[in-house]
Amino acid sequence: MPPRSPLYAQRWLVLTLVALLGAGFLATSLLSYYASRASIRDNIVNTELPLTSDTVYSEIQKDLVRPILISSMMSRDTFMRDWVVNGEKDSDQMTRYLNEVMTHYGAYTAFFVSNTSLTYYHAKGVLKQVKATEPRDAWYFRVRDMNDPYEINLDPDLANKDNLTFFINYKVYDYNNRFIGAAGVGLTVDAVIKLIDKYQQRYQRSVYFVDNFARLVLTGAEGGPQGAQIGQSLSQLSSMKDLVSQLPKPHIGSYEYSVQGQGHFLNVRFIPELNWYLFVDKLEDGALNDIRQSLYLNLLICLVVTLVVMVLLNRVIKRFQDRIQAQATLDSLTELPNRRGFDLLAVQAILEAQRELNPLTALLLDLDHFKALNDTYGHLAGDQVLSGFARDLQSCLRHCDIVCRWGGEEFIVLLKDTDAETGHEIAEKIRQYVAHQRYAYNEHMMQVTVSIGLTALQPDDTLHSLLSRADHGMYRAKQSGRNRTCVEMPHTTYEPA
Ligand code: GH3
Ligand code: MG
Ligand code: MG
Repeated sequence: MPPRSPLYAQRWLVLTLVALLGAGFLATSLLSYYASRASIRDNIVNTELPLTSDTVYSEIQKDLVRPILISSMMSRDTFMRDWVVNGEKDSDQMTRYLNEVMTHYGAYTAFFVSNTSLTYYHAKGVLKQVKATEPRDAWYFRVRDMNDPYEINLDPDLANKDNLTFFINYKVYDYNNRFIGAAGVGLTVDAVIKLIDKYQQRYQRSVYFVDNFARLVLTGAEGGPQGAQIGQSLSQLSSMKDLVSQLPKPHIGSYEYSVQGQGHFLNVRFIPELNWYLFVDKLEDGALNDIRQSLYLNLLICLVVTLVVMVLLNRVIKRFQDRIQAQATLDSLTELPNRRGFDLLAVQAILEAQRELNPLTALLLDLDHFKALNDTYGHLAGDQVLSGFARDLQSCLRHCDIVCRWGGEEFIVLLKDTDAETGHEIAEKIRQYVAHQRYAYNEHMMQVTVSIGLTALQPDDTLHSLLSRADHGMYRAKQSGRNRTCVEMPHTTYEPA
């Protein structure tokens, strides 16, 4: 298996870290989203909706309990019973009585229907005769035949511009327990409707009442769920299919259902006084919008942070890689390329010169008697001379030339686009320049000379053959007295004059 390149390893590392970071962020965001969602759902189902239900129920109770008591009192009232038993003689007396009840107790209406004459008396006079054939009077005959002592009925009030009214219809008996009529008071449901509207608008929840047959009996001014009208059955509404399948008959409890993909929470409570069910419904979406938005924001932040981390990580890794690469290819004392760095550059330069048929001259430089310098002034002084020499050497070269510390006190220079003759001039310039330089270390001023071997690149040269010729040249320079340049060509040798 081929070794993996550092670039591949770097990418893999960055991707792994970013994936880990992203997955971590995603997991915590989703966990907190689902935890908040669960707690919000829990709060809606177990607290919010039951609380609304309680409030609506207690408001209704407040509105209904007093009228029930008043109606109960009316049904036991001796004046009323005596007046009926004695033949309903003076209707004004009854009207006065009903008017007194209505104004004193703040009812919307007060009434009595006699079973003997079927006359409907109310607070403002005799209204009409009730008829078994008249649908509006059906309530009376229902009350007459029922077993319960009273019923609560929601009907339009004929005497009051047909306003929707709760009627408490109480059965009245004579002293021998014979049914003699129905009496009671009516009150408008305005207060309840206002309350329902307030809850519907302020808390974005839907509040309505249904009877035992799941028919809508009372709701806010704007209608029931999905604009349903009073009298409509929930099973008639196509949007309520999901709910009706869970709840074919109204039953108390908490439910979750969906309408066109939107989740709903529902609390159902039984109102025994009315024999109705109170439905309080909340749309899931509105409740969860805030946390959904915070989830999106969270995810966006995660994405941005992950991207920033990815970019920073990439940059840091690249910088480290560059530094490590530089350290591996540079000599720390002179900051010139070392052998490894030189190899990379030199092979390239040689191939290029051979391909383009450009001249290239190689110099091998070796400081003279360097050991003696070290021995005399110390190793640190030697180091000082080496770095000074490297600086001077570079100052004599062009930017495009390749220079390296070959090892110890030996240096190599490749002069690009330079033939042997020009190369020789440059070598001499270096040699003379160095010979005139003084290198300071503590109080010592040191001087050094350099022997240079020179050769020109041949078409069939390798880096090795090129350098071994330069090495020969340098060897000859040493042999012939040092501080000089010797040219070494493949077939000819050229000695300085
Ligand atoms: P020659 O003229 O024949 O080149 O004599 P020389 O003394 O320069 O040659 P030799 O190869 O015998 O000695 C090279 C010396 O360079 C020996 C070694 O201690 C010294 N040297 C090599 N690397 C370093 C270095 O990094 N710092 C210092 N201060 N000295 C070094
Ligand atoms: Mg040497
Ligand atoms: Mg030497």
